[in-house]
Amino acid sequence: MEKHSHDAVYYGVVNLLDNANIVGAVDVWRCRICRKLFCEDKRWGLTELVSYVGFPELAEDERWAVLVCRTSAGLTWSLVAAKPGKTLPHSCTKELVCDVNVDSDFSVHSISFIEGQGNHRLYLLDDYINRELEIGYEGIENVETRR
Ligand SMILES: [Zn+2]
Ligand SMILES: [Zn+2]
Repeated sequence: MEKHSHDAVYYGVVNLLDNANIVGAVDVWRCRICRKLFCEDKRWGLTELVSYVGFPELAEDERWAVLVCRTSAGLTWSLVAAKPGKTLPHSCTKELVCDVNVDSDFSVHSISFIEGQGNHRLYLLDDYINRELEIGYEGIENVETRR
């Protein structure tokens, strides 16, 4: 692929649900030339539009994903660029830093056990464009059907 200025057009949205309640969405743009995806998270209450120019760009072999953390206090999510072997900086709570590692199948595991740490899941966004993504995983069936 020759070097070019990305020409990104709106591609779709992934709606995030926590046990059927919408908790946010990720807008996805795609470059018309190289088909690279650009993502922007849209948390409920954050409405200002941002131009895709200046969006972070995926490195080689990276894929956009949502990292979900469930603690006893509830569920949080963040948009991340994931690839196997990569360490994702993460904090379960303000005080509790708990980086996670991406495995070869894009599942995640905490690097070390820390008292009170959350339970973590990673969902690849390109599997869910213009679909709903259920990130609440109280039931084991959600864990098993993660793609
Ligand atoms: Zn491009
Ligand atoms: Zn966490």
